[in-house]
Amino acid sequence: MILQSDYHIHASFYRIKAADADPGPTAAEQQAAARAAGNHYIGILEHCNHAKHHPFHCLEELSAEYYTPHFDRSDTFLGVEADLNDDGTDVCGIEGRAKLGLHYVIGSVHLSPKIIPDVETYIRTEYLRIRNTLLTNRNVDIIGHPFGEGYRYQKAGIVPSWGFHLVPPEYLKEIAVLAKRYRVALEINRNDPSDEVYVAFLKDLCRSKNLFSIGSDAHSIEGCPDAAIRTRWAESLGFSEEHHWKPAILKGISGDKES
Ligand SMILES: [Zn+2]
Ligand SMILES: [Zn+2]
Repeated sequence: MILQSDYHIHASFYRIKAADADPGPTAAEQQAAARAAGNHYIGILEHCNHAKHHPFHCLEELSAEYYTPHFDRSDTFLGVEADLNDDGTDVCGIEGRAKLGLHYVIGSVHLSPKIIPDVETYIRTEYLRIRNTLLTNRNVDIIGHPFGEGYRYQKAGIVPSWGFHLVPPEYLKEIAVLAKRYRVALEINRNDPSDEVYVAFLKDLCRSKNLFSIGSDAHSIEGCPDAAIRTRWAESLGFSEEHHWKPAILKGISGDKES
């Protein structure tokens, strides 16, 4: 059994947006939606990258909401989804983590055909960023949606069908080995039983006792129930609570603000 938990829930209320745009959910609103969706542990976050619409200031506002005295922090944690750089550093860094009082950092690669038009170059770039992060960066706790942005190449008509068959098996193997060695979780952020190579990769992670986490990647309250669907799918693949990633504070070994 897996204790349903979701550490990848965006509180997009603090983003810079047009005056008439949907304001997006606050941390409290996403926490309520995540609890209603059946999650035990909840992680609220936002992007930490160089995009104009979520400068670091947005994260400071999100952190201020989380640490406000009336916010119910029980079983609820604060994180960021930080973009990974080519050298394996992350945009948040240890200083950003301390400044925001974060419990965890998800390190993700966000690329698209607009940034890298060639799909093989995209795959290699994502692989190298994840690999270098695993080898050198102890600030990152979870690798967010590995190769999860590849579907954009299908959408753009660059590949007829996106799937893990396009990722060289040696890349997947090395990422799994390094993630296990350095106890970094790999995120299950998509359930796609039709992608046989992806399913085999996940089953290998399960067999090799890699840490995993399950993320809805919800950007609105409507996205939160996805965690339940993905958790049931992960269970059907053989994942169990034993290797389910948890914030260090739950194990009493955190440098967190509240400890
Ligand atoms: Zn992402
Ligand atoms: Zn995300």
